[in-house]
Amino acid sequence: QSTALEGLPDGVAEALAEEGIEDLYPPQAEAVEKGLLDGESLVASVPTASGKTLIAEFAMLSAIERGGTALYIVPLRALANEKKTEFERWEEFGVSVGVSTGNYESDGEWLASRDIVVATSEKVDSLVRNDARWLSDLSCVVADEIHLVDDRHRGPTLEVTLAKLRRINPGLQTVALSATVGNADVVAEWLDAELVKSDWRPIDLRMGVHYGNAINFDDGSQREVPVADGQRQTEALVADTLDEEIDGQGGSSLVFVNSRRNAESAARRLAGVTEPRLSVDERNRLAELAEEIREGSDTDTAESLADCVARGAAFHHAGLTGDHRQAVESAFRERLIKVICATPTLAAGVNTPARRVIVRDWRRYDGEFGGMQPLDVLEIHQMCGRAGRPGLDPYGEAVLLAKDAETMDELFERYIWADPEPVRSKLAAEPALRTHVLATVASGFAASRTELLSFLDRTLYATQTADPGRLEGVTDTVIDYLEANGFLDRGAVDDDPDTAAVDGEGDTDTLTATSLGHTVSRLYLDPMSAAEIVDGLRDWEETTDDPPTPLGLYHLVSRTPDMYELYLKSGDREQFTELAYEREAEFLGAMPSEFEDVRFEDWLAALKTAKLLEDWASEIDEDRITERYGVGPGDIRGKVETAEWLLRAAERLAGEVGVDAVPVREARKRVEYGVREELLDLAGVRGVGRKRARRLYEAGIETRAELREADKSVVLAALRGRPRTAERILENVGREDPSMDGVREDDEAAAAVA
Ligand code: ADP
Repeated sequence: QSTALEGLPDGVAEALAEEGIEDLYPPQAEAVEKGLLDGESLVASVPTASGKTLIAEFAMLSAIERGGTALYIVPLRALANEKKTEFERWEEFGVSVGVSTGNYESDGEWLASRDIVVATSEKVDSLVRNDARWLSDLSCVVADEIHLVDDRHRGPTLEVTLAKLRRINPGLQTVALSATVGNADVVAEWLDAELVKSDWRPIDLRMGVHYGNAINFDDGSQREVPVADGQRQTEALVADTLDEEIDGQGGSSLVFVNSRRNAESAARRLAGVTEPRLSVDERNRLAELAEEIREGSDTDTAESLADCVARGAAFHHAGLTGDHRQAVESAFRERLIKVICATPTLAAGVNTPARRVIVRDWRRYDGEFGGMQPLDVLEIHQMCGRAGRPGLDPYGEAVLLAKDAETMDELFERYIWADPEPVRSKLAAEPALRTHVLATVASGFAASRTELLSFLDRTLYATQTADPGRLEGVTDTVIDYLEANGFLDRGAVDDDPDTAAVDGEGDTDTLTATSLGHTVSRLYLDPMSAAEIVDGLRDWEETTDDPPTPLGLYHLVSRTPDMYELYLKSGDREQFTELAYEREAEFLGAMPSEFEDVRFEDWLAALKTAKLLEDWASEIDEDRITERYGVGPGDIRGKVETAEWLLRAAERLAGEVGVDAVPVREARKRVEYGVREELLDLAGVRGVGRKRARRLYEAGIETRAELREADKSVVLAALRGRPRTAERILENVGREDPSMDGVREDDEAAAAVA
């Protein structure tokens, strides 16, 4: 192997051997043969769990060995830290790793000193927009899960970002990792890359459909799994996996369902299957884990998760906090949790193999197209690919469920025998192009319509379309929109009349970003969001003397396309219509008429989000909020973060168009800390937070200055007698002698707080 690995730092082969990686998997060997270690671009389209990460690591390590740096693009923010930790095992070879998440508007200059940087495509896109110079010194970029260029929402960003990086660095090695897709060759053509395409897996995968009393596998074999009266298919299958001991161990299952609610209810039901099968030791360890989950958060979701976990089952979806997700994943890998019921997000990227994967739901509600829609073959195959843990299981089993013979045949046709779909670019859609046309012009990749079209010619869309006129048409519509809203200027390049005249005709083709357009691009806003915010703020300024209220501002940012909307449930329409009229005076911009059905509905959905934010900023308990809006704690955090970002952007836009930004800043801070106005000062102290700030305030400590001077026993009592916490907080607020040694929370102070 040592000769084959020329180009990697010395000792890598030995380090891998220590991890149990003695030989390269065939797709890895093929990638090396095709020049991976010599800077060759490569698309690797291989099944889930077949060692794609090592292909990426080889490319990056060899690039670093040649004196270069590498960028690893992850599909989800939640995966960035996970990948960073994974790559940190190369630190002993002198490789430094950085992760770039968080705020969009910065150039991340410190990242220039890292050998490997991990970031999402949105983050990389924003770095490009903010002129991060180190990006032009990159030697290798890895795009994980490249098939996601097919995603309507996020695909175009990945596509355009890769095109830009390759434009800045003509010699850039591009390594794209993909699940097996129908047209990996087209992706390779787009990226001028070698192709490794393989169906090889490190462990056999058997796929089948459970129907009646047996699983029917693709190889024609059957396994009896009878379903008792009153039992569900999933219960029978999970029990069957657990009862089949291999090397003294029952197997774990991963159950995919189509909604969070279903994940939670399935987990509760399956806990009835796992619980009686736990050993005493497992019960104790699970009880501890459940306790940790409860301690971290006091929401219903956490409570329900803890209940399931104590009994050996768990659910996993995007409404969980990151900590809880990780706790579940690692307990499952340690075989402590026996079954996870998950929404399909788990199938992407998270390394949680199970002996048996059960795909319970193959249809999902689609808000955009309406009704239940079947999942893509690609998605189902990715879920199935999680089956089988190399070295632990003899094979992996993936099982779909059918209630009748007809459905069974359909499932075989549709998924088991079927090839995955081809990847199709979604770039030629207005929302995507709106953002990317502005950014492409603002960051200097194109200074005219002609240059813009020639830049777009480097995208996957251009590689695969038979109708280049379509992209051109949408581009023109978008340019018109951006010009009408004051983000782009067409025609004159230069204010100087002397030079403007010289170019004559060519000038009508030129495109330049206005100052507002530059700001919008750097803020990473959808131009449509920016237009909504600017119009709303201006309209308010012209028509009203009082400052806008937080609710009005929350509504303004909630109705932009950058805020993921909350759906209206039954009963919501009446409730929020009432609220809309009650507080009509607070909205920025006119409220649509009830007769404009769709617009009014959207307006109400935004009001629901705005009200959630107002509740949060009024110190309503997290738990009450999750109940009131039917969301998980992770969703509250998501909304709060998005609102914070959008309000920060609104502050900048207010400054740009000459509108008072102070009310926007206050509304932003209140949502950031989740507090009423009077707590803003205190809640900003590190370690304080909304609940502690309220307790301090009730104990008569109303400001930072007062906290700095406050009686220690009062502070201690307000912080429920936790000396460590009290010391940390006093230190953060700048107290000279924060020590609580010898301070007692005396009864009088405690009583005052109570
Ligand atoms: P993918 O990204 O393709 O889904 P991973 O890269 O996560 O798959 O690899 C799955 C598992 O296989 C990891 O635990 C990894 O350590 C292991 N692995 C990768 N390459 C080899 C190899 N050549 N020999 C043994 N194990 C390997």
